Amino acid sequence: MAQDIGVIGVGMIGQEHIRRLDGGPGGSRVVAVADADAERAAAVAGGLPAAKALPTGEELIASDAVDAVVVTSWGPTHEQYVLACLAAGRPVFCEKPLATTQEAARRIVDAEVAAGRRLVQVGFNRRYDPAHRALKAAVDGGAIGAPLLVHCAHRNASVPPHYTRDMSIADTAIHEIDELRWLLGQEIVAVQVLAPRRSSRGGELQDPLLVLFETADGVLVDVEVSVNIHYGYEIRCEVSGETGTVQLADPAPVHIRREGAVAGLVPADWRERFALSYDIELREWLDTLAGARLPLGPSAWDGYAAQVVSDAALQSLHSGGRVSIELPPRPGLYATPTAW
Ligand code: NAP
Repeated sequence: MAQDIGVIGVGMIGQEHIRRLDGGPGGSRVVAVADADAERAAAVAGGLPAAKALPTGEELIASDAVDAVVVTSWGPTHEQYVLACLAAGRPVFCEKPLATTQEAARRIVDAEVAAGRRLVQVGFNRRYDPAHRALKAAVDGGAIGAPLLVHCAHRNASVPPHYTRDMSIADTAIHEIDELRWLLGQEIVAVQVLAPRRSSRGGELQDPLLVLFETADGVLVDVEVSVNIHYGYEIRCEVSGETGTVQLADPAPVHIRREGAVAGLVPADWRERFALSYDIELREWLDTLAGARLPLGPSAWDGYAAQVVSDAALQSLHSGGRVSIELPPRPGLYATPTAW
């Protein structure tokens, strides 16, 4: 069945997702948009064949024209819109983070549990990236024996002026938090954030950071978060196991050898690096809505669990030291693992 979608927040990733959802697989359409910036909403709607700009996200969620909602507004606004979708019985795809505190994420979990059915999917797109899926298949297939250590890096060329120190964790490393839970099929039980000498390119921002995670099975993980590294956007991950290692391949599709040097292009930003992951993520979400698949995407519980770890990492960043993490029991609604 074709899906008519409403999109709340039509900034960078909102517009990225609209390109994929309008005229997408199965004849999906974007029929409504809303944004705090009414002019931006009108301009985006004007470029789409079937979309209207509505004054508020709440009106969009209440509209009979909308089958399902995509929330791509700024993080602090996610809770109100996802809760409104749950109250209205609307399936909702919410970009990460699900909410900006674990308490807010828990309110979403509780509302979904009370509703008694899975309506929320969180935009943890690494799970849809073919390279990350191949990495997980190698680990799950026993290619390297039991995983012991994981080395990751999350590098951005630069970040906008409003980017704060906490966003290195809550907005950036949150991708690794979900990736590690999914990749290793285990919860994270402790975190410590270390701050090395500050990059002069980041101004007052504490950049880079080194984030250390411990999993329930005793796997140790180090994540470099560098958000002003200038040379490009790069995501690295290497898993070291009992009998081998597996790592994401070099991001360059080709290497050029000339004038005594080897060169390969590095993606400029997340849009370029993860384009295919967004294609697959939204196609699978539309398939789920159409009833062609079970709801296997990252759930509200995954959004909550990631937020608990993110809050613990922020505690470590602010006050130093190792912070232990204990999740409450997973509600029965999420007993079937989503993607692990
Ligand atoms: P953005 O370019 O700033 O876009 C956000 C849009 O939401 C802006 O147009 C903003 O308007 C609007 N907005 C703010 N408050 C609103 C409200 N209460 N109701 C409706 N609209 C509102 O940000 P972005 O980079 O697209 O990021 C949006 C979300 O996606 C964030 O949660 C971010 O973490 C996530 N994201 C995920 C990925 C990924 O790889 N999965 C990549 C990028 C971003 P104003 O500009 O007027 O405030």
